[in-house]
Amino acid sequence: MIVELISVGTEILLGNIVNTNAAFLSEECAKLGLSCYYQTVVGDNEERLTQTIKTALSRSDIVILGGGLGPTQDDLTKEVAANVCNKKMHLDEDCKKHIEDYFAAKNIKIPDNNWKQAMIPEDSVILPNPNGTAPGVIIEYGEQRVVLLPGPPNELKPMFTDHVEPYFRNMLPGTILSKTVKICGIGESSVEKQVEDLIDAQSNPTIATYAKTGEVHLRVTAKAEDEASAKKLLKPVVKELKNRFGTYIYTTDENVTLEMAIADLLIANNLTISTVESCSGGLLAGRLINVPGISETFKTGFVTYSNKAKRKFAGVRKSSLEKYGAVSKQVAQEMAEGMHDMSKADVVISTTGIAGPDGGTDEKPVGLVYMCCYVRGSVTVKEYHFHGNRAKIRETAVANALILLRECLLEYFSENTFGKN
Ligand code: ATP
Repeated sequence: MIVELISVGTEILLGNIVNTNAAFLSEECAKLGLSCYYQTVVGDNEERLTQTIKTALSRSDIVILGGGLGPTQDDLTKEVAANVCNKKMHLDEDCKKHIEDYFAAKNIKIPDNNWKQAMIPEDSVILPNPNGTAPGVIIEYGEQRVVLLPGPPNELKPMFTDHVEPYFRNMLPGTILSKTVKICGIGESSVEKQVEDLIDAQSNPTIATYAKTGEVHLRVTAKAEDEASAKKLLKPVVKELKNRFGTYIYTTDENVTLEMAIADLLIANNLTISTVESCSGGLLAGRLINVPGISETFKTGFVTYSNKAKRKFAGVRKSSLEKYGAVSKQVAQEMAEGMHDMSKADVVISTTGIAGPDGGTDEKPVGLVYMCCYVRGSVTVKEYHFHGNRAKIRETAVANALILLRECLLEYFSENTFGKN
């Protein structure tokens, strides 16, 4: 089946906001086995929106529109879509009640124009919105479907996951199942090379590669009559990928992030962790603290940006700073060891580098980063050369710090298992 996405909003056209909804929806539709051939962004303009929906309906089975369900005059999506599909609008009592309850809970008088959000086209399925006032709508237009979702990502994403996805699963013939194999520590081109033969031979299941910063995700998708048969198709392919990539795979669970996998390793092995960051400026601690329940393992995170802070809070020697400079192997190691002495964490990771755009020299160019991982007395120090602007260098540094951390933990576990320590 062919799906088409239309993002509605002049803000997106002007570049004021990044179209993260489209990225989310296209990935989710791919997981369902829907083919997305076109995506459009259109401003809040009745005529152009009408034309865009008509064009989409002329070539796609499902049209998903995001945005323009708000209460104001320029929010036109529902009215225009209903008009294109020749559906009359009526006031839906449940939606009206939801709006009343929503405003009552906030103790706010309901603005008059909010009632238009309770107007629903006939032949529609209403999608509840616990995070806002605008309900979503699926208009059943013959064999085709027009899905209307609110623009705010915190409303659109849960609505899609909780209501649209199950609706599509019911509607689509057969079952589509996918499994994501998440790999870190190997580059995209190397991963692609290693699965080239599988991709060339693929028909069902299919394998798609997605490059992320520091990671590569392989999504294996199978189509079958029922769930059990789809699982049967997935199993040997996932097994083959596990054989090929071994411990580079940190999870095969779609919902697990790299920081979650690391937190699991730390918690399962009763290890505590602290971070001490210079160029990454707290982003590393921030990623670890993304994980719910991290308080079981995370002790302290310091940003020691200046030399003075490196000396005062991480115990770096003045002589090391003078002799080797703040961006050096020696200082990265002293930061990690100093943080261990201070916080008594079992594991410490440190970062120090030049994020740019200024501050680089021939000897120490922008993008040079040193990291040290301390695990119960053993230290690993690595030198990296990252590329891109300041934000990219910092983001890549953090991804690589997590990868280094995971590698050092796995090495520590394997040495302990075999009694080498
Ligand atoms: P509201 O009730 O808030 O008006 P709406 O359904 O009318 O919701 P819009 O007004 O189009 O949605 O967008 C509301 C906000 O949602 C935008 O200001 C923006 O922050 C965010 N948003 C809208 N579309 C997108 C998108 N495609 N990607 C990311 N964010 C978006």
